[in-house]
Amino acid sequence: MTGDGPKEAIFLCALQNAVKHGGVPQAGAVTGMVMSAHPEFRARAKEVTALAKEAIDDVASLSPDERVKKLQILAPDLYNAIFAKHEHRKGLPELECADQGVVMRFAPNPSGPLHIGHARAAVLNDAYVKQYGGRYLLRIEDTDPKRVDPDAYDMVREDIVWLGLGITETVTQSDRLSLYYDLCKQLIERGGAYVCTCNNERFRALKQAKCACPCRDEPVAKNLKLWGLMLDRTFKEGEATVRVKTDLDNPDPAMRDFPVFRILDSPPHPKVSAHVYPLMNFSVVADDHLLGITHVIRGKDHIANTRRQRYIYDHFGWKVPVYRHYGRMGIEGVVLSTSQMRLGIQEGTYTGWDDIRLGTLRALARRGISPDAVKNAVLAIGIGDTDISFSWDNLYAENKKIVDPIANRYFFVPDPLTLTIPGAPDHNAHAMLHPGDPARGTRTLEFKGTAMVPRSEITPESVMIRLKDLFNVNLTWEGGVPSFSYAGDSLEKARAAKAHIIQWLPEECAVPCTLLTQSGEITGACEPMVKNELGHVVQFERVGFAKIDSVNESGVRAYFTHK
Ligand code: GLU
Repeated sequence: MTGDGPKEAIFLCALQNAVKHGGVPQAGAVTGMVMSAHPEFRARAKEVTALAKEAIDDVASLSPDERVKKLQILAPDLYNAIFAKHEHRKGLPELECADQGVVMRFAPNPSGPLHIGHARAAVLNDAYVKQYGGRYLLRIEDTDPKRVDPDAYDMVREDIVWLGLGITETVTQSDRLSLYYDLCKQLIERGGAYVCTCNNERFRALKQAKCACPCRDEPVAKNLKLWGLMLDRTFKEGEATVRVKTDLDNPDPAMRDFPVFRILDSPPHPKVSAHVYPLMNFSVVADDHLLGITHVIRGKDHIANTRRQRYIYDHFGWKVPVYRHYGRMGIEGVVLSTSQMRLGIQEGTYTGWDDIRLGTLRALARRGISPDAVKNAVLAIGIGDTDISFSWDNLYAENKKIVDPIANRYFFVPDPLTLTIPGAPDHNAHAMLHPGDPARGTRTLEFKGTAMVPRSEITPESVMIRLKDLFNVNLTWEGGVPSFSYAGDSLEKARAAKAHIIQWLPEECAVPCTLLTQSGEITGACEPMVKNELGHVVQFERVGFAKIDSVNESGVRAYFTHK
């Protein structure tokens, strides 16, 4: 909350309430908000009530639009907290030839669950389909049996549902092998491809020397016969490949007569019994054409593939889709390599695909990151071709806009120390479940002589602490040992003593709670009401947001989301 004195602060509370709920607020609601956001005004209840009435009149004199504009100017944080969900992309650049609508696709390999890197392609294509209207295909690219994890078919679908993509239809490439075989035959008939039976070393040497291999100029009829021998399993693995005719003078050797079909017998494919598989460039072109894809948005790492794919389009005389290649995105701090993740899971280093040290979408979900936050963060990055590093801070800021207005507040005391406070009166503290929404009510913490506080707060430098929503405690140090005494409930005195206002728990009701972070576990205790929040994101005051992952007799386990 911004504003210098009570008047400004009270006006902001009234304004925020009016914008959020779409009408002029009641005085009680505004004073409730003010008291919870500004405990220092609690002693001035009469003055606050009078100012609240004035503020409500001021707000009432503004039109609804003026209220929104004023809130945006005076308190952008409060504005964002209310409008985060409705804030959409910050203008993706227009795509050419998209006026009549688009057909786009997201084409992951089912080698593991989706991670934050996949989210960029998935979300950008989705946003364009929504922008221009049209169809959005999910294409499961599973024609490389070495890169297929049978469990990934379901995981990818689940991740897409979680992300909330507007997929209109799904195709799986292993269901379409006969279409690719057919097109391969056509490509050979057009003289655009040939069956190469050279061994790899020989072909490589010829390719480096920009020379044709002997198979290249064999007549179409012979190539068709050899293609038949590939399909009927006469040729074994490694004995024959189909190559597309490109430009042997191309300065990049990787462009020269690259392979488009190969024979593979192991590992077996989990869905089909096949001997001949198309390579990615062929199946991608075949499907982009057959499925009528109009626009392709993919990473710069596919630029060489785009060049290769043009040769295939040209041989068939097909129209090339519109391509956009976005820059590389470095993602630090999490494991993203599917093979490393799989190995770590097998070895027990990670608990599963949703281990919070991994960059998978399911790990983000487990930590309490909302799919809309992922979408907004990715859309903000956009489709620029500059290489960037992914900003976790931006993702967390997006997520905070979403969870902050929703999450109930609770006390979590890490590494607790129990204080006995002689002379302190028994007292019930009533703390707001949400300072911006008094209607949610309060949680009650009954102080009966002892309080658990974070051990890190009890340092020889501190002479006073304030137990939040309760009272002040003096610390006296003797021989390095602190003793504690009741110091009244004046907030001014706490301020003057620079006392930290800290979270605390009555020992009698504290529930053991473990907070799991990417860098390890923090053991502590939390309020009993946290047990009702299973699966929800809460805010542990002064600690950060956390998702309640499990609740049982031994206590609560929560994943740290972000500050
Ligand atoms: N399956 C390819 C990949 O995940 C995508 C192919 C494409 O975008 O053309 O890298």
